[in-house]
Parts: sequence; C-alpha cells; structure tokens
Amino acid sequence: MLKKLFKKVLCCIFYATVISVAFCYMLFRGHGAEKISTKEHYTVQLNKNNSEVDKNIHSSKKTASFIESSHISGKYNKYLEIYNNNKELLILANRNNPLPESYIPDLKYICSGRLEASSKLYDGLVQMLEDAKLQGYSYWIASAYRSAERQQQLVDEDVYAFMTQGMSYDNALEEVYRETMPAGCSEHQTGLALDILCSGNSVMDASQKNEPANKWLRENCYKYGFILRYPEDKSSITGVNFEPWHFRYVGKEAAKFITKNNITLEEFYIVLEQ
Ligand SMILES: [Zn+2]
Repeated sequence: MLKKLFKKVLCCIFYATVISVAFCYMLFRGHGAEKISTKEHYTVQLNKNNSEVDKNIHSSKKTASFIESSHISGKYNKYLEIYNNNKELLILANRNNPLPESYIPDLKYICSGRLEASSKLYDGLVQMLEDAKLQGYSYWIASAYRSAERQQQLVDEDVYAFMTQGMSYDNALEEVYRETMPAGCSEHQTGLALDILCSGNSVMDASQKNEPANKWLRENCYKYGFILRYPEDKSSITGVNFEPWHFRYVGKEAAKFITKNNITLEEFYIVLEQ
C-alpha cells in the first residue's frame, strides 16, 4: 500500500516537472516571437511613412553586423528622423539606383558661371571655400552638375577610346562601367556632387589625398553640409574606388550624422531598409 502511494507521488513529481519545462519553453518561444514582430513593426512603419525609401534602395545585406549594432544601440529612430528631415538632400544615386527620369535638379551657376550645381549647396559651398581660404587653401572645382546626356557622352567617349585599341564594344563598355557611372546613375546628375581639386594639383587621382587642402576639406566638409562620398575603406560598400575629390551635399544635419558615425550613404539606407 505504502509502496503504491510512493509510486503515485513519484509519478506526480515527474509529470509536474515535464509540464513546467514545457511551459518555460513555450514562454521563451513566445518572447522570441514578440521580438520578431517588433522588427516587423519597424519595417511596416518605414514602408508606410517612407515608401520612396524602398524605391531608392537596393543595398545588399553585407553589413549585417553593422545593422545589428545600430539597432541595438537604438539609433534606428535617429536615422529615420534624419531621413524625414532631409529626404531630397539624401537622394541615393548609384549603379543600382538610377535617378527617376522625372528628376529635375534645382540648378544655380557657380564658379562665375562656368559650372552649374544644386542651389541647395550654394551657401554651404561659399562658406566652406571662404573658411578654407582663411587657412590658406584654394581649389578648382572640376565638375559639378552633369546631365544624363553629358554622362552618356562621357561613357561613349571612353568606350570609343577602348575600341580604338581593338576592344569589342561589349568589353569596352564593361571596362568603362568599372570607373564611370552609367547615365542616370551618377550623383553629378543630382547637382549635389562636386569634384574639388586642390590648387596646384589638377590631377584627379589619389594624390589629392596628400594635399593639406584636401585633408582640410575631408575633415571639415561636414560642418558645411558635405560628406566625402567615396571613402578609402568603403569601396566594397559604395562600389566606387576611393575618390578624395568627390564631395556630396546632404545638408548639415545629415552630414554631421553620417560623418560622426563613419558611414556611407549606402549604409545609411541599409539601416533604413531594415
Ligand atoms: Zn565626382
């Protein structure tokens, strides 16, 4: 009799343990599901409020750890806030994100009428060049706004040059696209990009980096709303080799944020896309 009772008690303990373990497991899974739905909530919100974000971004997901850390540190909302405040200035143009055909930049003459650029960058540019001058630095703006037609012309000229060396059209085009953006994909078409060379060095290559005037620009441009668009260590993300001369206007708020966080415009959108 006592033996039977003892067996029953043991059975009860066993079932109670099994039920407790099962309950804890379900609780744990439930918590995980909640986490996922929070993430989905962000995505839905982003799509609802900023449908054009989706249209503009392509981004591969190779910087997963970077995205993860941004979420963990709770910066996502800051990205969204900056995007919402500066949508037009943050427009993304690259090989995978051609500008809409309807895109029309608001242009203004710069450099005594020699070039045109977006009127949005004018004040920042003037102030930046004035402050640089006080430091003893001067520059030559080699390129600013370029139309899609002009960009196509540059591509065609380079293709022709390769073909005269015996290359087929297809191979020549492939070669040209390694260095030059196709028409519609160049930032210069937004009027928000400038190629700024240092006085005394008119060669548009990595040697610009060694000029003190270029160093000053790279370190201070964000104060005037510009970012170095294609940094040396980010070519795998931007898809463009280091261009110490190519500066992009995104406005002071976004430029400060992007620079302080050491990210590129592509990375900015990768976070927004999450
Ligand atoms: Zn450029």
